[in-house]
Amino acid sequence: MNTGRPLQRCGITSIALLTLVVSSGCERPPAPAAPVAEAPDAAKLLAQMFDTLARARELTFTGCRVPEHNLLGPRGEGFRQFLEILDGGRISVAALGLGMAQGAFEMGLSYARQREQFGRPIGSFQAIQFKLADMATEVEAARNLVYKAAWLKDQGRPFAQQAAIAKLYTGELARRACNESLQIHGGYGFMDEYPISRFYRDAKVLEIGEGTNEVQRLVIARGLGL
Ligand SMILES: Cc1cc2nc3c(=O)[nH]c(=O)nc-3n(C[C@H](O)[C@H](O)[C@H](O)COP(=O)(O)OP(=O)(O)OC[C@H]3O[C@@H](n4cnc5c(N)ncnc54)[C@H](O)[C@@H]3O)c2cc1C
Repeated sequence: MNTGRPLQRCGITSIALLTLVVSSGCERPPAPAAPVAEAPDAAKLLAQMFDTLARARELTFTGCRVPEHNLLGPRGEGFRQFLEILDGGRISVAALGLGMAQGAFEMGLSYARQREQFGRPIGSFQAIQFKLADMATEVEAARNLVYKAAWLKDQGRPFAQQAAIAKLYTGELARRACNESLQIHGGYGFMDEYPISRFYRDAKVLEIGEGTNEVQRLVIARGLGL
């Protein structure tokens, strides 16, 4: 296997888990499985727009051989296993989005109470109140979507559709809520003194990782029988 493409994130630990091989590069036809490859040759840190949520690295494996006993499942079943993991992972990422939206809302609410302009807290202005009212409403709706997806999974019932719905909604909500909360912070929203600037940078990845918004919509439409 020779690859120079970004494959998997590798954070502060030195462990890299390569979950999927799509081409073995040898004469046998590609036989996806879920292998664990050890020790990449290089793990270059990639520059990215956020700093703490996840650190992406470009891993390079040259002429890498995966020992048979490192296969995590039957040969040829890796892609199916991978998709199953993605369904469950979407609930976790939806929970991340919910937490981020809730955090952005709480920061906006707190700032609106303390910041005064024209002799009164900015939270007394209806324009600010409406932003916070919208955020409170959407966070509540998002919580129910995430809990329902998790409940279905816990019950052993089909949950892929609900996981995609929760992931799509919370990813878009996190971006919206961080944007509105930063707006409430005004110029201070750009300063690292206030964590909303970091939330704003981090939120975007929730619309891309674990399947983009477009892919969630494809999954949901397929679930509708379209
Ligand atoms: C910080 C970070 C961490 C990540 N961590 C991991 C990880 O731990 N494990 C892992 O496996 N992956 C990880 N990823 C990869 C991530 O899952 C992919 O980036 C994501 O699924 C999108 O794939 P892509 O980048 O190849 O985009 P592409 O597939 O090239 O998509 C580009 C654009 O085209 C759209 N598009 C593509 N196909 C269609 C279609 N059929 N219909 C309509 N629109 C389409 C996409 O929605 C997107 O807008 C990570 C990515 C980032 C940024």
